[in-house]
Amino acid sequence: MMRWMVWLMMALMALSGTSAQAQEAPAHQAQAVKVTTLSTMLTDYVGLGEWGYSALVEVDGRRILFDTGGSPDVVLKNAQALKIDLSTVEDVVISHFHDDHTSGLITLRKALMAKNPNALSHLYVGEGIFAPRYTRDGKGDSENSFPAFAKAYLETGGHIQQLSGPDEIATGVWLTGPVPRSHAETNWNPGLFVKAGSDLVPDTLREDLSLVIATPQGVVIVTGCGHAGIMNIADDAKAITGDARLHAVIGGIHLFGKPDAVLIETAARLKGLSYLFAAHCTGIEATFRLRELLGLDRRTAVVAAVGSSFTLGKGIDAGHIAGWVG
Ligand SMILES: [Zn+2]
Ligand SMILES: [Zn+2]
Repeated sequence: MMRWMVWLMMALMALSGTSAQAQEAPAHQAQAVKVTTLSTMLTDYVGLGEWGYSALVEVDGRRILFDTGGSPDVVLKNAQALKIDLSTVEDVVISHFHDDHTSGLITLRKALMAKNPNALSHLYVGEGIFAPRYTRDGKGDSENSFPAFAKAYLETGGHIQQLSGPDEIATGVWLTGPVPRSHAETNWNPGLFVKAGSDLVPDTLREDLSLVIATPQGVVIVTGCGHAGIMNIADDAKAITGDARLHAVIGGIHLFGKPDAVLIETAARLKGLSYLFAAHCTGIEATFRLRELLGLDRRTAVVAAVGSSFTLGKGIDAGHIAGWVG
């Protein structure tokens, strides 16, 4: 072999070695991740189903409650039925103002603080969650029940942190804050309005935030209703973590009423996704269509039930009703 070719090969090896080292040493990645469904419509042997969402997120020993369900007591009862102790969970996230995500907050805080005063003592929300929401004429009272929940929560001694942008709340664990909306998704039920000066404009749920985890396998997203649009959320999650590999989408992505064209576009944007753990307002038909379009199967694209879980490195434990394969 000619000497210049050896030099070239050595130079290429050195270059590839350098870039491999850079890829191997991302500063902020979570290693152990488990997400357990505590509220959604479908349930397994134990637990109550409801229109709502809540999940316990466990990352490298840190425990976070993401949303609190649609009834005052369902998440509390489901956790008890599943023998999950929530009293050591100090952080709680409310994804947006809708009461199918907020209604368990006060019941849970009061019940759990009897055992640990710091239980659910720190609440994260996105900027915009306090905005009054009106029906079309703008004359009635605000339809937003969150300010009342927040007042009752503060009276228990809880602390509320409003996010205007991404925040890393634990190593590799991010909350997006309000999500940039470059795709024109409208993944919410229209009908409410917010004030912009003296005008009323449609409520786009600006506060809608998701939880994003950077992992060695790629990005894991946990979202409540996905009102910001899962395409926008996925883009934001990639930008925040600097990782373009989507690993799992977990929670509600509000596609239940969408036509096929939207599902096709969504699947194209989520290309390469390894797990779809779809709960709540994703919709059963939409989940099965996305499974097909993404090339996933009954083990990797699942309708979540109360008690079902996702574990990084293991995949989805669907429980009996939603896809157990013997
Ligand atoms: Zn919602
Ligand atoms: Zn919802």
